[in-house]
Amino acid sequence: MERCEVAVLGLGAMGAATAYQLAKSGVKVIGVDRYHPPHTQGSSHGDTRITRLSVGEGAAYLPIVRNSHRIWRELEALSGESLFEQCGVLVMTSSPDYDAQDATDFTHRTLQLAHSNGIEHERLSAAQIRERFPQFSPVLDSAIGYFEPQGGYVRPERCIAVQLKLAEALGATLFKGETVTQITSDEQGVTVTTDQRTILADKVVVSAGMWSRELLGQPFDRLLRVCRQKLFWFELEEHARFAPVSPTFILHHGPGDEDLHYGFPPLPGEGSLKVATEQYSEASSPDTLDRTVSEAEAREMFETQVWGKIAGVTSRVAKSSICAYTVTPDGDFIIDEHPHLKNTLVVSACSGHGFKHSAALGEALAQWCVRGSSELDLSAFSLKRFDGQA
Ligand SMILES: Cc1cc2nc3c(=O)[nH]c(=O)nc-3n(C[C@H](O)[C@H](O)[C@H](O)COP(=O)(O)OP(=O)(O)OC[C@H]3O[C@@H](n4cnc5c(N)ncnc54)[C@H](O)[C@@H]3O)c2cc1C
Repeated sequence: MERCEVAVLGLGAMGAATAYQLAKSGVKVIGVDRYHPPHTQGSSHGDTRITRLSVGEGAAYLPIVRNSHRIWRELEALSGESLFEQCGVLVMTSSPDYDAQDATDFTHRTLQLAHSNGIEHERLSAAQIRERFPQFSPVLDSAIGYFEPQGGYVRPERCIAVQLKLAEALGATLFKGETVTQITSDEQGVTVTTDQRTILADKVVVSAGMWSRELLGQPFDRLLRVCRQKLFWFELEEHARFAPVSPTFILHHGPGDEDLHYGFPPLPGEGSLKVATEQYSEASSPDTLDRTVSEAEAREMFETQVWGKIAGVTSRVAKSSICAYTVTPDGDFIIDEHPHLKNTLVVSACSGHGFKHSAALGEALAQWCVRGSSELDLSAFSLKRFDGQA
């Protein structure tokens, strides 16, 4: 029987950050992961993740991402690794049915939040978007843009690797290639059973990503959906015109949830552009997730999301990958104590926008474990909001 103060179950984005922050606080921590993170089986691979201070998903996220930006820089100083590229972020709506009065429009919400929270930004017209960022010259004349110079992207695999390495250097014990099969709790603490050992912990943080449903039982099994997502890296045209410092971007080009794509500037030396869209209509599971990308899917992606929308990109696929979102009914996170397991905190239902917040959530969860509460107000992510929902 291994004993510790806190066991962190799942060492992806959320778990690596939590294990690091706990170890940094002097807590005796054990981390467990079924694979060897960073890996390509969960939700934290694919080279890059967008980060932005004006989080159009809601005001509750703003203090979290701010803390993450501070922590990425701290981690860079400690590790010497480059983790956070502040190349700016460009959010655009270029849709034939664009309604300038629609307050729910994502670009409007982002502009509004930046304005009311003093976040440095520019509002761009279609002409300004075309002039500054020629790759988006196809935007419609009615397009609007939000440019935030402090946004950009983080390197997910590096962030995870750095935090796990630092956690171990600070005394954390990490069991990799080991699967948690059961969690039970009583007055003695929380008992974690893995396929190789038993761990008795005072507290447990479950950060199991898309495997959370299976591990956590009710009510998570009815609240969480796993949605397969495709990532593509399309080769650039030989003389593609990109702004010298190109931003990460999000483009809404129609009214539907799936009428959007997001992407990243071409990474140095790669000659390709990473671009992806989102889908919420088909649910999957970790066991049945199809991890192959077909030629038809690549063709569809290019035709519906890239052709006529981003200039300078060919239909040739340099690379593709499958990743999964763990989605809640309202698209917001669940960060809360487990309703049936004592001393068990849950984080990981991050609906496809969690990486930018992960460093700060790790810090907040470590505080929660040590003193019973966190400096960040995480009440917006409590399970209570789903009470009574079928
Ligand atoms: C395609 C895609 C694009 C995204 N883009 C962005 C973006 O641009 N910006 C942004 O902020 N966010 C983005 N996200 C969301 C973000 O990446 C995720 O919210 C975040 O990475 C999820 O981290 P996690 O720790 O919850 O899950 P993971 O990183 O998947 O970690 C879960 C870990 O738990 C382990 N585990 C599971 N079950 C067990 C078990 N029983 N025993 C032991 N270990 C277990 C797994 O092996 C895994 O390592 C994107 C996600 C995807 C899929």
